[in-house]
Amino acid sequence: MQHHTVEQLDKGPRAGKYVYAGGNRRVGRYVECCNEAWLEVMQTPAEQRDNSPAWERIGHETAEDAYAHMRQVLLGELRLDGRSSNWSGCRAPVGDGRCDVPTKGFAEIRSFPFLEPLCDEHRTRNVVEAIWKGPGDWYGSL
Ligand SMILES: [Zn+2]
Ligand SMILES: [Zn+2]
Repeated sequence: MQHHTVEQLDKGPRAGKYVYAGGNRRVGRYVECCNEAWLEVMQTPAEQRDNSPAWERIGHETAEDAYAHMRQVLLGELRLDGRSSNWSGCRAPVGDGRCDVPTKGFAEIRSFPFLEPLCDEHRTRNVVEAIWKGPGDWYGSL
């Protein structure tokens, strides 16, 4: 299981900055929200790692900023072309209820447990942003 949450970096040149991180005690913790820069730092030989210019692109001033950055990263992975073999009712909110038009289409975020049936009309990023409040904190195998 991995624990996904915001935490403060405890060492390195950006110690004290907030990041959205995943991992666990066994595999270690890693930065998810500023992941590109994090991978760059990790590819730097250990003895030069603290001098990597990529640190400049890691970490946020507040926990809210780290959550917001992770949300943008995950929304960037949103896929709207999912096709299921089963029919489901569209989950988009409409008035006091939901659309419920039968659909085989779904929206999906690959590296987060988000998968919602949405009809052709509602399978848009705007609708996903309205129904998905994530990422929040979560445990999972991803
Ligand atoms: Zn970030
Ligand atoms: Zn719909």
